[in-house]
Formats: sequence, structure tokens, C-alpha cells
Amino acid sequence: MRKYDLLKERMRKIADVNYASAVLSWDQETYMPPNGADSRSSQLSTLSGIAHELFTSPETESLLHQAKDENGLNVGELKNLQLIDEEITKQKKYSTSFVEEMSKTISICFQAWNEARRKNDYSIFSGPLEKLIEFKFRETEILGYESNPYDALLDQYEKKLTVKDLDELFDSMKEKLSPLLKRIFSAQQVDDSFFFQKYDKTKQWDFGIDLLKQMGYDFESGRQDISTHPFTINFSSKDVRVTTRIDENNLSEMIWSCIHEGGHALYEQGLPVEEYGMPLSEAVSLGINESQSRLWENNVGRSLEYWKNNFKKLQALFPEQLKNVDAEQFYKASNKVEPSFIRTNADELTYHFHIMIRYEIERNLFSGNISVKDLPSVWNELYEKHLGLKVKNDKEGILQDVHWSHGSFGYFPTYSIGSFYAAQFFNSAQKDIPNLKDIIEKGDMSDLLKWLRNAVHVHGKFYSAQDLCIRITGEKLNVKYFMDYVTDKYEKIYNL
Ligand code: ZN
Repeated sequence: MRKYDLLKERMRKIADVNYASAVLSWDQETYMPPNGADSRSSQLSTLSGIAHELFTSPETESLLHQAKDENGLNVGELKNLQLIDEEITKQKKYSTSFVEEMSKTISICFQAWNEARRKNDYSIFSGPLEKLIEFKFRETEILGYESNPYDALLDQYEKKLTVKDLDELFDSMKEKLSPLLKRIFSAQQVDDSFFFQKYDKTKQWDFGIDLLKQMGYDFESGRQDISTHPFTINFSSKDVRVTTRIDENNLSEMIWSCIHEGGHALYEQGLPVEEYGMPLSEAVSLGINESQSRLWENNVGRSLEYWKNNFKKLQALFPEQLKNVDAEQFYKASNKVEPSFIRTNADELTYHFHIMIRYEIERNLFSGNISVKDLPSVWNELYEKHLGLKVKNDKEGILQDVHWSHGSFGYFPTYSIGSFYAAQFFNSAQKDIPNLKDIIEKGDMSDLLKWLRNAVHVHGKFYSAQDLCIRITGEKLNVKYFMDYVTDKYEKIYNL
């Protein structure tokens, strides 16, 4: 047996432990009863400790070195070895006790966030969050950084992304988006009132399932459930699960969360299954993963063509609620631009201000400029400054997102980056498939999915985010494509 294959065997075992943890996490956020929290936290902590120990053990390292000395490895195999080597070097910096303690702290913090959100009381979350942030500070020291501790955290989700890059990116975005928003706010607002009627939950659910099927989501390799915060998780590319939330009094919540998570899931179902356990079975980065969900959610799911096809099906389900609406009105309403409190409900434009605010807070937290206790007031000030909104309570403010309770600092910026990649990729897809809009109008998504499979999905982690972008579009990430796309779209919607 080749040494490479022995290493692969080992990596499969480690993946088994990690994916078993993932199943427990999925359960924690969907079906677990509240009193299961304590034992779940200890189960997750034990498994993450075992996986870490296996991965950083001398045995794994020795298999890696033997595999590296082997002749005749192909480029994919060499890439796997390089990425495993990098990851072991990084993971060895963490002690097993640090990993276990971190996992426990995260579980406690997540439960506290849930309770704080339910009771609309930030003080319940504040203590556990402070403890978690102390851990994250220790983590930045473990990982190392050049100038800013926050860079070490950003790098976890988007390799080599720094505060310097993001300051530039958000500055240039703000400079271009603000004038467009000003023009939109002075135009006649579109009417989206029909979204906020009573829409039966079961019918909404069924419609969401149909949208996922139309996209090409494989229900033999996945399922959908309900959770507080919609997410996608996989236990291999043959078991990729999505969740959604349904608001009986707001139709839009379910529709675009289904399409968004469906976009993530299509990517993960398209990752090479034969690489299970190896880096090539994984997504490139969060930004690229997000580009897939954003492309489906916005470039496809908020386009006129998409609704020319799907609106009649929706109208047939809700004839009373939608009797005075047509596809074009529905399309315009689904793109209504208006500052709002909740990030996940935000339109495609003001959305990026929600991200910028979280970025600003995280950057300041990790330069020690603000304290955890003051976060709600800092948050509220920034919402007033950038979106002109007075936050009324913490549930609609600082407690709305799950990420910080998971210790995911440095994660939010990948959402904006994902939208920018999405616009750039979709531009290339349109060049390669000249009749793309016509076939979307016919409800046929198969050519687009095939294009994404070839351009992005099948490669797993083989290319870096930047190389993948150059390979697909001929250049590095460029905000211009996003700005061109939104300018053209919103000038038409708002008759600017
Ligand atoms: Zn997403």
C-alpha cells in the first residue's frame, strides 16, 4: 500500500470524528431539548479533543513525511500533502487542553446567547462573551500575526485577508454605494406590503422545497429542517443539510433563506466525494462558499427572469394574498432598498453596511479600543451613524447574530466578499452561457449549476481564492463588478 493511501486512511478517521461532531452541532441547533445542553457541550468538547489529538499526533506526522518522500504523486495528491502540512503546523500550536476548553466555552456562550436573545437581555450574554474573547485573544497569540491580532482571526476564514485589505475594500465600497443609495432614497419607494400578510407555514415550506429542487439540490444527499438561524452543514458531500426559518407574517424570510442556503449546499454537494477527509474535499474559503449562496440568492433569486417563472407557482399557492400582484411588482418588492435593523433581512445594498459595522466593532475589540460591556451602546451608535436607525432593543441589535457566541470573529467580512465574488463570477457565467437569462426564465437552472460545478465546485481547495477568481474571471477580486451589477439593476427598479 502506498504511504499516501495510509495517510488518507488516517485522515478519513479524523474526518469521521469531526463529522460526528458536526452531526451533534446540527442536532444542537435543530432538535435538541434545552436540558440536553450540558451533556452536549461535554460531548462536543471530548470529540474536538480527540480529533485534535489524532491530527497532531506523531503518527499522522510521520505518515505525512513518508508520503511526501514517495515518487509518482499526482498534482492533486501533492496539493493535499501541502495543505495537510500547513494545517498540522497550525494545529500543533494549540494544546489539546486549549482546544477542549475553547469548545466548552463556546457551548456555554452559545447557550447564554440563546437565553439572552429569548429574554432580550444582553447582560446574560456579556459575561460568557467576555470569557470567550479572552480565549480568542490567546488564540491570536498562539497563531501569531504581523501587525494586528485581528489579522490572525481573519486568516482563519479567508487566508491572507488583513485589516489593511478590508479597510480599503470597505472604504471604496462606501464611497461608491453611498451616492447610489442617496439617489434611491430620493426616488419613489416600491411597495412590498403584500409580503406582510398571513402566509400558511406548510405552504411556505412546500414552496421552499420546490425552489431547492429547481436549483438542483439533491434531497437524496440532504434534507431541510427548521432552526433559529438558517445554516448549511455537511457530513460529507453525500449528506449536506440546510435549515430555514418561516415567519407566517413575512413571506420573504423563508424564500431567500432557502435559496441562500441552497446555494451553499449545491457547492458542498459538488465537492469531490472521493477526497473525503482530505483538504481537496473542502470549500476554498468562506468568501468563496458565500459567493455560491449569494449568486443564487441575489444574482439569480432576486432577478426578474427568476420570478417570471416562479411567481405564477407562488400565486397559485396564495391566490388571495397575491391577487393584485404580478411578477414584475413581486420582483421590485423583493429588491426594495430600505435601512433595517436585522442583517439577514437587509436588501442587497444596505446589507454591506451591516457587515461594515460588525467589522468595525471586531477590529476595535481586538485592538482593545472597546470593552465587551460597552458593546450594545457602541452597536447602537454605529447603526445610527451608518444606517440612520435608532436601535430599540438588544434582540434587534447586538443579540441578533449567532456568530460571536460561536467565537467566529473575523467571519462577517466574508459575507461582503462573497457578494463581490458572486457578481464577478455571474458576469463570467453570462459570457460563457449567452442565453443564461432566457433559460432561467424557463425555470431551467441546470446549465448554471453545471457551469458552477466546473468552475468552482469540483476543484475543492485545489486553488486559493485569489487563483480561482483569476482562473474564472481573468482578474483578482474587483468590487467594480458588484457596483456595475447593482447600479444597472437599481437604476431600472427605481427609474433613476
Ligand atoms: Zn451564507
